[in-house]
Amino acid sequence: MSDSTAVNAKGIWKIFNEGQANEVTALQEVDLTVDQGEFISLIGPSGCGKSTLLRVIADLTDATKGELTVAGLSVHEARKQQRYGIAFQQAALFDWRTVRRNIELPLELAGWDKAKRKERALELLEMVQLSDFAEHRPWELSGGMQQRVAIARSLAVDPPLLLMDEPFGALDEMTRERMQNELLRIRLETGKSIIFVTHSIPEAVYLSDRVVVMSPRPGRITDVINVNLGDRNEDTRESEAFFESVTAVREALRGRTGNSGSSIRARVGEV
Ligand code: ADP
Ligand code: MG
Repeated sequence: MSDSTAVNAKGIWKIFNEGQANEVTALQEVDLTVDQGEFISLIGPSGCGKSTLLRVIADLTDATKGELTVAGLSVHEARKQQRYGIAFQQAALFDWRTVRRNIELPLELAGWDKAKRKERALELLEMVQLSDFAEHRPWELSGGMQQRVAIARSLAVDPPLLLMDEPFGALDEMTRERMQNELLRIRLETGKSIIFVTHSIPEAVYLSDRVVVMSPRPGRITDVINVNLGDRNEDTRESEAFFESVTAVREALRGRTGNSGSSIRARVGEV
């Protein structure tokens, strides 16, 4: 494994309530390698284990079996060193803190002093274009704005990796497209690796370098679709290449081989 590997997962299993009547195999033999700077989407039907995979990578739950490193470290060590940021569907902001102080929270945990925390939070608010709302409370903001605050918070310690679980799922279509563009801009500015869970095919295609397709339970990776759309712009979503990739992902989700399935399989290994 090279230094440029953001995440390396090999043979990951997750079995909930093992040995009990309500045993659930959520992940089965999952292999996934994410290079530094790559944007990967996980897509698959509800309950196929997308969130579980993200939670295993984030050290929020243990894998039952398998090997997993983040930036070459154990997931536990990576968490301790704040090597990734997390943004989930619910912005999960603290209503009693101002927007700025919500963003400062991970910096407080990392032991930053007050002045530096504030400076960093204001810089991030500028990045997500919410400078005017620094001293507002989260409940005074729209859903899209709250989500931008959550993204700013996930970027606070400047982690090389972002783990995002349907972060735009609750937003209206227009806001969602704007947020997608903002995320791509942030990614371009910061060079981060991103693992992004969604069940929107166009969203996955628009954002990703590779779309990882998972099967219904037990969750396995069944296909990986390479997306080659170059720099995204206003025309991307209406381009032929975009529709081709959307079709490839849709067919992979239906269990038919995607266009680039075979070349990718070689990359992921023995899926
Ligand atoms: P997705 O995010 O793809 O919708 P999840 O990863 O949330 O799917 O869930 C995958 C499967 O694991 C589901 O069947 C779900 O019910 C089960 N599951 C998730 N978390 C738990 C848990 N803490 N205890 C038991 N089963 C769980
Ligand atoms: Mg989920």
